[in-house]
Formats: sequence, structure tokens, C-alpha cells
Amino acid sequence: MRRFLVAGNWKMNTTRATGEDLAAALAANAPAAEDGVEVLVCPPYPYLVPIADKTSGSAVSLGAQDVYFEAGGAFTGEVAVDMLKDVGCSHVIIGHSERRHVMGETDETINKKVKAAIAGGLTVVLCVGELLSDREAGNTEAILDGQMAGGLADISEAEAASIVIAYEPVWAIGTGVTASPEQAESAHEHLRKWVASRYTDAFSEQIQILYGGSVKPDNAEVLMGQPNVDGALVGGASLKADLFIPIIDAARKLSA
Ligand code: PEP
Repeated sequence: MRRFLVAGNWKMNTTRATGEDLAAALAANAPAAEDGVEVLVCPPYPYLVPIADKTSGSAVSLGAQDVYFEAGGAFTGEVAVDMLKDVGCSHVIIGHSERRHVMGETDETINKKVKAAIAGGLTVVLCVGELLSDREAGNTEAILDGQMAGGLADISEAEAASIVIAYEPVWAIGTGVTASPEQAESAHEHLRKWVASRYTDAFSEQIQILYGGSVKPDNAEVLMGQPNVDGALVGGASLKADLFIPIIDAARKLSA
């Protein structure tokens, strides 16, 4: 059975102090190994070290929100895979819709980042998702196929074992508009079939596919309860322990 992963993307939020308090609360409420739920927090770069202090020794994993594909050198403002590993990251989000649509990141760049992260030993949370205009034009699956093919170009099944997919419809991110459970399940089922056709059926049954887009305590259970939904990537509701912990608890309940 696939384990649930509940991941918090803090984006460009928190202060050092509020982030530390949040991480401490999550570490204190972390699921036990037998709960079948993994928890991940992805704070802004400057807070990775203090947050690692709060989560180390707990079942809460640490991730970054992005990474650069070069190993080091004259790349002002960028952060390398080894630097993330050095400060305790096990995961990195790549291809978030804000990087794609605000920073203009392309599938080609995303693919380079995915390769570098896997080669360096990080688990990648690869985000894919359609714009509202794509959905309204009936192009959701074609967009997802393109992002999957681009992001996973030249990546073997063994390498893809270090990837978690996050389906995040752009129109649902930070908007309070959530995909219906049926919309989420349909996209997740499509993504799993894509993975089966690109790799193998067996591998497609193992890969975790998270849903992201206005996940809250009151919709987490029904969304994560869909057969092909293996957890959540949470933005706004990951910034408050009293919202994020009930989402973790919903995953715990579903995996019991
Ligand atoms: C996200 O940033 O990945 C996200 C899903 O945000 P929100 O939960 O706020 O929609």
C-alpha cells in the first residue's frame, strides 16, 4: 500500500520565529512510523537551518521549495542540491506553478533541476497542473502529459523512484476553489496511467501522487480518500498548526 505524504509549502511566508514555532508544533504532533503517513515541511531557504533544528529527530522531513541544477559557482541567488543536503533537506519541490507561471520556468529547466536533485540524493516533489483556461478548453490531460514528459525526460524508472508527483490545478492554488474529489481523482488516475505507459504498471502503483490546491481540514479527508490520491501538498493551510495537523490527522485516519 502506498503511504500518504502530507507536505507543507510555506512559500515566501513566516518569520524565523513563527516558522520555528510552527515546526516545533508539527514535530510534537508528528505521526508515528506505523501511522503510514509522512510529513514534510518546505520553509523558505533562510529558515531551513533553524527549522531543521526543530524537526531533527522527529518524523517531520525537511524540504526546499526549489533548487538550481548546477553544482556550484557563479550563479548569484541560486542554491545547489548539495547545499540543501548539507542543511538536512531530504526533499525539494520542483516545478511549482508559481515558478512556472510567475518566474517563467520551462519544462526544460525543470527537467534539469529534477535530474540534478535525484543525482544528488534528494526526493523530488514534481508539480504539474493546468490553468483554468486549459481546463475550460478541454486540454487538462494534454497539459499534464506535456509537463510529465518534459519534467521526466531521460529519467529512468530507477531514478523516478525518487519522485513524488503533485497534481496542482493552477486555478485551485491559493484561491479557495478546490478541485472536486471527482476532478482530482480523474487527473490522478490519468497521471498514474501516464506513469504506467512511460514506465511499468508495477511502478505506477508505487509512485505517490499528491493533490494540491486549497486543501483545508474540511476537504482533506474526501480528497485524500480518492483511490489515486496519496496525500496533499498544502500551501495556505500549512502555515498554521491548527489547520495543518488536522490535515495530517485526516491522512492518518485514512491509512488506519
Ligand atoms: C501550493 O502552494 O502548492 C498550494 C497548493 O497552495 P494552497 O494550498 O494555498 O492552495
